Amino acid sequence: MNFYTTILGSGAALPTVTRHCSGQVVNVNGFRMLLDCGENTQTQLRVYHQKMQGVSTICLTHLHGDHFFGLPGLVSSMHLCGRTQPVDIYAPAGVKQAMETLMLVSGSHIGFEVNYHELSFTEGMELVYENNLARVYAFPLVHSVPTYGYLVEEKPRGKNAPRRYAYCTDTAYTESILPYIEGVNLLCMESTFTNAFASVAAEKLHCTAAMAATLARKANVGQLLLTHISARFKEPDELLKEAQEVFPYTEIAADGGQYEVHYHPERM
Ligand SMILES: [Zn+2]
Ligand SMILES: [Zn+2]
Repeated sequence: MNFYTTILGSGAALPTVTRHCSGQVVNVNGFRMLLDCGENTQTQLRVYHQKMQGVSTICLTHLHGDHFFGLPGLVSSMHLCGRTQPVDIYAPAGVKQAMETLMLVSGSHIGFEVNYHELSFTEGMELVYENNLARVYAFPLVHSVPTYGYLVEEKPRGKNAPRRYAYCTDTAYTESILPYIEGVNLLCMESTFTNAFASVAAEKLHCTAAMAATLARKANVGQLLLTHISARFKEPDELLKEAQEVFPYTEIAADGGQYEVHYHPERM
């Protein structure tokens, strides 16, 4: 397992004891990056043995609290633990002002460099980060505030073709993302509601499980991983059933679960 994601939080806006707010560590052959940083992300990193100081690249989808409120605490703890290495943060515009205001009013001093890369483009897909192991692209989603999905591409090793992983949350159903997620090996997609709440999903600019599965099927992805599960669903069987009726190669993320980006997903 050398390209996989560790889910730190698979819940939606309201955290529960079993599903924390959004956050996950993607590991690409040893390069580790954090996608989203909801409240309690730093504790979840410890619970699931993900070394906090080993993360230098943080990408936030958007600045709603359930994806962002863990960042000030994480950066502060990195400082308290003696960090000297810089951190690069990719997020919609506003993140720098929000973070610097919090640090100022709380009298916090951060003893390492924090580089903010604010995203503000509204169409297309842009390469936002690259190293010798991976490329990370961002593309706009459709939500109530500026929001980006991320595509993580493994650089080829030996004869193997690069695998790709896409993370899309939060978003209304939109086929505008199909060109960006076309054929990815694993799609991690928000699935906040069941069909019974389709009108609520439309109103709040979220997806149902069936909508996520429809996008997965249309994009011909390898596997679908549902996340951002509303706290109202204690047993998410209904979400899984509704998604699998549309796209059978679906599972539901669990906090602490590790999901590999397979070259050739097994299809029973
Ligand atoms: Zn959210
Ligand atoms: Zn949101």
